[in-house]
Amino acid sequence: MNEIFTGSFTQQEPIPAEGIAAVNVVMQHGRLHRYNTVDGEVAEVALLEEEFAATVGAKYCLAVASGGYAMTTALRACGVGQSDRVLTNAFTLAPVPGAIAAVGGVPVFVGVTDALVIDLDDLAAKLDQANVLLLSHMRGHICDMERLMALCDAAGVIVIEDCAHTMGASWNGVPSGRWGRFGCYSTQTYKHINSGEGGLLISNDAEGMARAIMLSGSYMLFDRHRAAPEPKVFAQIKYETPNISGRMDNLRAAVLRPQLRHLSEQADKWNARYREVESGLRGVPGLRLIDRPESESFVASSFQFLLLDWTSDAVKDVILRCARRGVELKWFGGAEPKGFTSRYDSWKYAPSTPMPQTDRVLAGIVDMRLPLTFSIEDCALIARIIRAEVNRVFQAQC
Ligand SMILES: *Cc1c(COP(=O)(O)O)cnc(C)c1O
Repeated sequence: MNEIFTGSFTQQEPIPAEGIAAVNVVMQHGRLHRYNTVDGEVAEVALLEEEFAATVGAKYCLAVASGGYAMTTALRACGVGQSDRVLTNAFTLAPVPGAIAAVGGVPVFVGVTDALVIDLDDLAAKLDQANVLLLSHMRGHICDMERLMALCDAAGVIVIEDCAHTMGASWNGVPSGRWGRFGCYSTQTYKHINSGEGGLLISNDAEGMARAIMLSGSYMLFDRHRAAPEPKVFAQIKYETPNISGRMDNLRAAVLRPQLRHLSEQADKWNARYREVESGLRGVPGLRLIDRPESESFVASSFQFLLLDWTSDAVKDVILRCARRGVELKWFGGAEPKGFTSRYDSWKYAPSTPMPQTDRVLAGIVDMRLPLTFSIEDCALIARIIRAEVNRVFQAQC
């Protein structure tokens, strides 16, 4: 009898009781807008910003409507506009090139290595083509950040980090998001803290953050922000910066604050699940696991492996066989973009030329969500199923 897995790959944990209680308080008083406060009251959004800034050790933080909005705001605050070229990853999620397109910019795609990080040699070769890099730590894999920053600093390229999958992660002890001028996070349901939709933006750059705060739709109420630059930084910026509303509301902030307090415990739970799947897949012929460097401290909300140089038919066969046994795998090598798995050559609004080494890696990437509603035993079962089906298809191929 073949074992079958019956769990749901898209089921998150319930909102913790403290979060539900905090949301109730906001609903009872009715002041949902971040600037709707009574005398002496500090809005939930302002408190969340202060707490998130403290968590990652940033000077400033702004809460916004989505991760995508955090990225467009960071790009605008760095002066990116119509027809400006912006370096970014060939392997990332659609909202990343989408953020560049939203400000009228043009993505310049940089390849991916078989460690699933940005190819720093390819980046070095393209640094003269743009002034900004929107770096995506896709699926939580972090590249050699010292080398990346040295390359970008030497070329005068500003780094904006997309930390949608690295909230709580770090490289050599420095939190992801603290390397570049801006760090952008998402609090959408499938990320590390869940408010349905939402985003956070951090920076240590006073002028950049003042612009971001004005952009987000703060009217002239910037002095109500706590994790913000001093009011004098806004003196000129307040006249020059358009209001492009994308604020976070107090309900979302209320639901996020208790979750933020438990982020590191949640990270440990994710990583225990990751290690269980990883050890269950070790030594499978034809299946390559992703090396996790010692400098990288990650939060594994998903799992990837490579079926490198397999035929499309063989990979599809593995995906189908696993699906029949309840294991939902996504593949980045399909001819057509499906669900969340588009890639640089799917985004036809942005010019690109084929990248053979990157295409080889993309064609082999198999991706799986790892929600915390899975137990360790679930993860062991999932690994046994993948192991058996990869073995079966691999042996049939030889
Ligand atoms: C989810 C995600 C985003 C954007 O987040 P939204 O809040 O959905 O706009 C950005 N980058 C990556 C890699 C993501 O997975």
